[in-house]
Amino acid sequence: MEKSKKCPHCGEEMDPIETPAMSSWGGEIHYVCFNDECCYFKESWDVLEKQGVERTGYRCSIDPRGACGPMAVWSSEALKDLMCKGKVGGKGA
Ligand SMILES: [Zn+2]
Repeated sequence: MEKSKKCPHCGEEMDPIETPAMSSWGGEIHYVCFNDECCYFKESWDVLEKQGVERTGYRCSIDPRGACGPMAVWSSEALKDLMCKGKVGGKGA
Protein backbone atom coordinates (compact mmCIF):
# COMPACT_ATOMS: atom_id res chain seq x y z
CA MET A 1 0.00 0.00 0.00
CA GLU A 2 2.99 2.30 0.46
CA LYS A 3 3.95 3.42 -2.99
CA SER A 4 6.82 5.82 -3.26
CA LYS A 5 6.04 9.13 -4.84
CA LYS A 6 8.41 11.31 -6.76
CA CYS A 7 8.41 15.07 -6.67
CA PRO A 8 7.17 16.44 -10.01
CA HIS A 9 9.60 19.35 -9.66
CA CYS A 10 12.92 17.72 -8.79
CA GLY A 11 12.28 14.01 -9.19
CA GLU A 12 13.36 13.14 -5.66
CA GLU A 13 11.47 10.60 -3.67
CA MET A 14 8.92 12.24 -1.39
CA ASP A 15 8.47 11.37 2.26
CA PRO A 16 5.14 10.65 3.88
CA ILE A 17 4.11 12.87 6.76
CA GLU A 18 1.23 12.52 9.12
CA THR A 19 -0.73 15.76 9.16
CA PRO A 20 -2.01 16.99 12.54
CA ALA A 21 -5.41 15.54 13.28
CA MET A 22 -6.84 18.94 14.14
CA SER A 23 -5.70 20.56 10.92
CA SER A 24 -7.91 20.82 7.86
CA TRP A 25 -6.26 17.65 6.59
CA GLY A 26 -7.54 15.62 9.54
CA GLY A 27 -4.56 13.35 10.07
CA GLU A 28 -4.19 12.24 6.47
CA ILE A 29 -0.89 11.02 5.11
CA HIS A 30 0.59 13.50 2.69
CA TYR A 31 3.76 13.09 0.69
CA VAL A 32 6.18 16.00 0.87
CA CYS A 33 9.36 16.70 -1.05
CA PHE A 34 12.02 17.27 1.61
CA ASN A 35 14.75 17.97 -0.88
CA ASP A 36 16.29 21.28 0.19
CA GLU A 37 17.62 21.69 -3.34
CA CYS A 38 14.19 21.34 -4.93
CA CYS A 39 13.59 24.26 -7.27
CA TYR A 40 9.99 24.52 -6.10
CA PHE A 41 11.10 24.85 -2.48
CA LYS A 42 13.99 27.20 -3.25
CA GLU A 43 11.85 29.53 -5.30
CA SER A 44 9.06 29.55 -2.76
CA TRP A 45 10.88 31.87 -0.36
CA ASP A 46 11.28 34.52 -3.05
CA VAL A 47 7.76 34.10 -4.33
CA LEU A 48 6.26 34.62 -0.89
CA GLU A 49 8.61 37.44 -0.01
CA LYS A 50 7.46 39.30 -3.10
CA GLN A 51 3.93 38.83 -1.81
CA GLY A 52 4.96 40.35 1.51
CA VAL A 53 5.17 37.08 3.39
CA GLU A 54 8.51 36.93 5.13
CA ARG A 55 10.42 33.90 6.33
CA THR A 56 7.91 31.50 4.85
CA GLY A 57 8.29 29.05 2.04
CA TYR A 58 6.56 25.93 0.86
CA ARG A 59 7.39 22.44 -0.26
CA CYS A 60 5.70 20.38 -2.88
CA SER A 61 3.15 18.01 -1.37
CA ILE A 62 0.78 15.40 -2.70
CA ASP A 63 -2.39 14.58 -0.80
CA PRO A 64 -4.03 11.13 -0.55
CA ARG A 65 -6.10 11.87 -3.66
CA GLY A 66 -2.98 12.55 -5.67
CA ALA A 67 -3.46 16.30 -5.82
CA CYS A 68 -0.28 18.32 -5.88
CA GLY A 69 0.02 21.54 -3.93
CA PRO A 70 2.23 23.72 -1.77
CA MET A 71 2.68 22.99 1.91
CA ALA A 72 3.81 26.03 3.89
CA VAL A 73 6.99 25.80 5.93
CA TRP A 74 8.76 28.38 8.06
CA SER A 75 12.21 26.81 7.91
CA SER A 76 13.99 24.05 6.05
CA GLU A 77 13.55 21.89 9.15
CA ALA A 78 9.83 22.47 9.48
CA LEU A 79 7.56 19.42 9.06
CA LYS A 80 10.48 17.03 9.20
CA ASP A 81 9.38 15.93 12.66
CA LEU A 82 6.10 14.79 11.11
CA MET A 83 7.82 12.35 8.79
CA CYS A 84 6.50 8.85 9.29
CA LYS A 85 9.90 7.28 8.85
CA GLY A 86 9.68 4.56 11.45
CA LYS A 87 6.15 3.59 10.49
CA VAL A 88 6.72 2.92 6.84
CA GLY A 89 9.72 0.79 7.56
CA GLY A 90 12.66 2.42 5.89
CA LYS A 91 12.68 3.71 2.39
CA GLY A 92 15.36 2.81 -0.04
CA ALA A 93 17.53 -0.06 1.16
ZN1 LIG B 1 11.04 18.48 -5.13
